[in-house]
Amino acid sequence: MAWDFSTEPEFQEQLDWVGEFCRTEIEPLDLVFPGAAYSRDPKAKALADPLKQQVKDRGLWALFLDRDLGGPGFGQLKLALLNEILGRYDSAPVIFGTAAPDTGNMEILAAYGTEEQKRRWLYPLMNQEIFSAYSMTEPQGGSDPNLFKTHAERDGDEWVINGEKWFTSAGARADILIVMCTNGMFIVPRETPGVEIMDYPVLHNHIRYNNVRVPADHLLGKPGGAFVIAQTRLGGGRIHHAMRTIAQLRRAFDMMCERALSRDVRGGKLANLQMTQEKIADSWIEIEQFRLLVLRTAWLIDKYKDYKKVRKDIAAVKVAMPKVYHDVVYRAMHLHGSLGVSNEMPFAAMLMGAAVMGIADGPTEVHKITVARQVLRDHKATDGLFPSAHIPTRRSAARERFADLVEAEVGNL
Ligand SMILES: Cc1cc2nc3c(=O)[nH]c(=O)nc-3n(C[C@H](O)[C@H](O)[C@H](O)COP(=O)(O)OP(=O)(O)OC[C@H]3O[C@@H](n4cnc5c(N)ncnc54)[C@H](O)[C@@H]3O)c2cc1C
Repeated sequence: MAWDFSTEPEFQEQLDWVGEFCRTEIEPLDLVFPGAAYSRDPKAKALADPLKQQVKDRGLWALFLDRDLGGPGFGQLKLALLNEILGRYDSAPVIFGTAAPDTGNMEILAAYGTEEQKRRWLYPLMNQEIFSAYSMTEPQGGSDPNLFKTHAERDGDEWVINGEKWFTSAGARADILIVMCTNGMFIVPRETPGVEIMDYPVLHNHIRYNNVRVPADHLLGKPGGAFVIAQTRLGGGRIHHAMRTIAQLRRAFDMMCERALSRDVRGGKLANLQMTQEKIADSWIEIEQFRLLVLRTAWLIDKYKDYKKVRKDIAAVKVAMPKVYHDVVYRAMHLHGSLGVSNEMPFAAMLMGAAVMGIADGPTEVHKITVARQVLRDHKATDGLFPSAHIPTRRSAARERFADLVEAEVGNL
């Protein structure tokens, strides 16, 4: 049987443990010490490191990485099933070794890195001995990579990088920056002279690269190969965001249902009103549709092990994500009345999350273009004057096939 939507019992057991572990151990940490899981402060590490160790002991650390890289090699489909739990809790991805932007950076280091690059940066990243950031977007152009200007000049045994990037998430706390230049992708240790972080306290950093010199072996992949690497990098990043978005959708949906069953209006429960029922039905259907698209895409990534072959599917997920995220969260927020729009509930932040998902890693419009172009490759123009579905044309072709019978029948009339 090729189509099977069930989860192996052994893995389901792991997922059940994950759900309980997140509720009892990670959520309290997030509520009282947000950011502890990322911190290098010894007191914060004393709280978060034992949790990371428990995850490692269960064999769930960096679950998406292949066995030859030290992960369990479970692949993207199982990562999706895990992420649709982890995505509910701020620090769960980092406690499981599957947090952005490190996962995408690990994937490209694994795919394009030399043995020496893996030894220096990939393995320490996997163990969270170091953190990374991905520095691609520039102030003058984000959606269109043809507008990027950051460039590397070869000078003897070194590359000299000049340019300006912004929205480099976690750039200020990263040990290495993966910098997209017009002529290659480079690994730049953050402490390298010339790396100027313009806005230290924020999460998404504006960075100038002023004559930043890195040794020749800091080039990732081939010279001129940055665009191909970027597609791999962003393909992984996009689908991982979608997996975590399922968790947020379920979270909003659970809140919506709880509210509908708890709140009294006009002599009955909110859940008894048909317009509430419509919101619940629409939300459940949209979440299930989105989840199936995400899981199928994860399955395709595991099958092909080549992001280029699933570009259309990932782009489709990316387009669907902000809409379903917005619509479900908005309905849940609305059913909570004034409390819903206050900062005592998480809906406002979730709504902003939906808007971010429509922009980060490329805006919706650009992904719609990708879907349409890829889909159109499987279709062709008609040779004739009329569309190929033109009924009279098709009927006369069909009549030719049955000419003998048609004549006999006409003769009998
Ligand atoms: C929270 C967050 C985190 C991010 N993290 C990172 C990171 O770690 N590293 C990094 O390098 N970047 C990061 N980014 C940047 C992100 O990838 C860019 O914002 C994104 O690519 C869009 O670029 P832009 O913001 O310059 O928008 P623009 O390119 O200016 O686009 C603005 C709008 O123009 C329209 N538009 C653009 N192109 C087209 C088109 N072809 N057809 C139709 N309409 C179009 C769309 O409506 C789009 O929303 C992050 C962004 C956010 C919001």
